[in-house]
Formats: sequence, C-alpha cells, structure tokens
Amino acid sequence: PGSSPAGGPLRSRSVTAVSVRVPAKVNLQLSVGPLRDDGYHDLVSVFHAVSLFDELSAEPNEELAVRVEGASAEEVPADGDNLAARAARLLAERIGVHPGVLLRIRKAIPVAGGMAGGSADAAAALVACDRLWNAGLEPGELAELGAAIGSDVPFALLGATAVGLGRGERLSPVPVKGRFHWVFALAEGGLSTPAVYAECDRLRAAHGEWIGAPQVSERLTTALANGDAKELGSALANDLQPAAIMLRPSLRRTLTASRDLGALGALVSGSGPTCAFLAESDAHALDLAAALSDAGVARSIARAYGPVPGATVL
Ligand code: ATP
Repeated sequence: PGSSPAGGPLRSRSVTAVSVRVPAKVNLQLSVGPLRDDGYHDLVSVFHAVSLFDELSAEPNEELAVRVEGASAEEVPADGDNLAARAARLLAERIGVHPGVLLRIRKAIPVAGGMAGGSADAAAALVACDRLWNAGLEPGELAELGAAIGSDVPFALLGATAVGLGRGERLSPVPVKGRFHWVFALAEGGLSTPAVYAECDRLRAAHGEWIGAPQVSERLTTALANGDAKELGSALANDLQPAAIMLRPSLRRTLTASRDLGALGALVSGSGPTCAFLAESDAHALDLAAALSDAGVARSIARAYGPVPGATVL
C-alpha cells in the first residue's frame, strides 16, 4: 500500500470501481420505411448525442446487482431486466467471467422519453465492465454486443452525430460544425416505443400511404456540416411524430407553443413523448426554456447542447 511511481506496482492492481458518463440522443431525422417481415422497419436515423447524461458506476460484487438513483428511479427496473444488467451479463458470457458486479445508475435521461436512456445505460455498462474486467474489447466488438441488446446501443457508445441504417445500428459519423443548443420539454409519463411504431403502421394503413425506402436528408446533413442552426431547424423531421401525437394529443400544444416562442425547429424526440426545440444560441435556449416553463406545456424543461461524445470513462 501507499504511493507508487507511475507505472509501478499499484498500476497493475485490479480496478475497484469504474464510472462512465453516457449521453441521451435526439433523432434529427427519423425516417421509417415499410414494416419488414421480421416485424422491424428499415430506418434512416440521424442520431445526435446531447449533454443530458446518465452516470453509471461498476464495482466488484458477489452477484450481478443494480441500484438506480435519481428523480425517476422508481420507473426503472432494478433487477436483471435493467438494460445495463443485461449488457453486463452479455459481456461476461462473451469473455467467460462471472458477472459479479454492482451497477449504480444515476438517471438524468427521462425514462421512456424517446431519448434512449435505457440503451445509454446498456452502453455505459459495456464500457464500465469491459474496463472493470480488463476485457479490452475493440469498439466494434462492444458495438456488436450492444446491437444484440438494442438498436440504439451502438450509437450511445459512439456519440457525436451519426446516420444509423438498418434498424438504426449500422452507423456512420456525420460531420458537424460547432455546437447546437437545445431545449427539451419532458412529459409526465412515458410512451412505449413498440406502441408508437404500431400506431405509425396503423395510421399509414388507414391513409393507404405508399411507403418507399427511407433516404438521408441532404438538406439536414448540409445544415449540420455548415453549422447552420436556422437550416437545421427547418430540416428536422420525425416520421413517428404523428403517431406520438395521436397517442399523446397534448404534444401538439407543446410543439405549437415552442414555435410561437421562436424556436428554430421543434419535433418529438424519437418515439416521444419528450419534445426537442432548437435554439439560436445558448442565450436563446435560456429564454426559450423560461418561456416554455411559463407556458406550462411540460412537466419539466431541460437545456443541453450537442454533439457530445458517447459513453466515456470518467
Ligand atoms: P428509445 O428512445 O430507445 O425508444 P426510450 O428513451 O423511449 O427509448 P427508455 O428510457 O430507454 O425509453 O426505457 C424504456 C423502458 O425500458 C422503460 O420503461 C424501462 O421499463 C425499461 N428499462 C430497462 N432498463 C432501463 C434503464 N437502465 N433505464 C431506463 N429504462 C430502462
């Protein structure tokens, strides 16, 4: 015990706890193709990681255990169903170790809010346990394990801004100039992602819509590359929005209010019910957040910027 020079014996001792910070995502574009035979849809999803973070720590324990803290902790399973626990178990199987780990999760990402909070925690658990167990897997190997848990997990590992194809898990980074400022309206209670997709299919069938293969919006990627917030605001698009509004009609009022209050763009985040509003600057985001709060159109308001890195060891 005691101090040791850098590179000395203490360095090789096993790690006792690893903390990881992982961001929420908003989909700047979510284009949903026709329903596939396997029940999924081909997607074009432009993911954008924002500075709304969950924190997860992993420490050695006899058995796999989960503790969840934070405002909405009671809405999150604290057993083997937690996506972070499933990720730890999968990694342990992959590398052939006993999954003896206590995962402590501090939630800040809204639960069932369309911001991929559960996927974020799964990504954080992969990164933390990989370090705790000295597994040293390559990023691609972690992404593959992540994709087996959920299609949004690989993006939570990667972060920044990326196009996701397939079910959203085949990622390519998208260049972004500068930083964008966001305001999020968090709703009371979540929406189930499968229910929102089912409603989307139902609405499309009812309208007899023909649905082609989804395409990446060039207008959106150009706006991102140029750091043009105004253009980005008008290029935001989410095919799940009508379904989310159908299941939660109050979202329409939230979106309209934000436009009246000067947001450059507004949309439902992923499958909702969180709504995302783009501001011109940090100062504008502050004003917009205050105005939305006064308008009483959300349970709570959060501000964040993007892009930010994916799951990172602290
Ligand atoms: P997405 O945007 O990927 O559709 P979401 O943000 O709408 O997801 P999540 O917060 O990821 O939804 O959670 C969906 C459900 O998953 C929750 O209702 C919860 O029961 C379950 N769940 C399992 N593990 C977690 C976790 N670590 N954090 C949050 N929810 C979890």
